[in-house]
Amino acid sequence: MFFSGAISAKRAGIKLSAIKAMYKEGIRAITDDGCALMNEDLLKQALKLSKKLNIPLLEHCEDPHLSAGGVLNKGKVSARLKLPSAPREAEIFIVLRDILAAAALRAPLHIQHASCRESIELLRCAKKSGICVTAEVCPHHFTLTDEDAASLDTNFKMNPPLREKKDITAIKKGLKDGTIDTIASDHAPHLKSAKKKSFIKAPFGIIGLETMLALVISELVLKKIISKKRMVELLCLNPSILLGLKSKGSLMPGMDADICIIDPLKKISVPHKFVSKSSNSPFIGKKLSGWPVLTIVGGKVVYKR
Ligand SMILES: [Zn+2]
Repeated sequence: MFFSGAISAKRAGIKLSAIKAMYKEGIRAITDDGCALMNEDLLKQALKLSKKLNIPLLEHCEDPHLSAGGVLNKGKVSARLKLPSAPREAEIFIVLRDILAAAALRAPLHIQHASCRESIELLRCAKKSGICVTAEVCPHHFTLTDEDAASLDTNFKMNPPLREKKDITAIKKGLKDGTIDTIASDHAPHLKSAKKKSFIKAPFGIIGLETMLALVISELVLKKIISKKRMVELLCLNPSILLGLKSKGSLMPGMDADICIIDPLKKISVPHKFVSKSSNSPFIGKKLSGWPVLTIVGGKVVYKR
């Protein structure tokens, strides 16, 4: 297991945390995930340090002044339901600001859970210009839209929020052409009692880990948007490169024996019961193909279906 360290002390966004000390203890990245660094001077200090230590700065891109109180993507659905909404600019603004800062400092920036078409376009331009930026997307952002959240089932409430069809199209293009480097689950378990609250009061987040592979296979590989080789790059190889995990991410001789054996055609409905203690997933009951049947970690079988 590997850890990220907080960028700012108590994730308060005021001063840097003890990053060097945490680095000595083995952190592989720094992030204040859940919040963006709004203090630009602190962002620059953190980027300089991430460059010096050669670990990426992972940014949750959301300007809280713009997203304030929003529980859905700002658009037709939020207007129809009369719910407070977060405009896409809340994400785009921070993506742009961070890319400019990373370019000026030549520091390693990683954009977490990109969800907007404009973010993907900015990333594509930045990469073409040789800026040191990488990015991830989450399965729920390339499979669901804010129309799905109109049911007001709180398992469709996450941050960044579900966007629109044009965003799904852009994310899939980015996955295909290399603009996006990795797919991440943004796994966020919550108690049933917490998710039973109203859409406004319930916490953001869903569990993404157990459905991630089947969503990637069903929605991307079997629909021929990406190849199996590209899937392995996005889920295994690129994350290990990003985090500097030299013995992970491939099956070459000398690497750790971490192996997942997949049945690509096994088709089942996502069950109500997860291995995780939580079950806050919007995919329960959805028929998906491509499930792990055997998982080996460090040469030991840890899961067998
Ligand atoms: Zn986040």
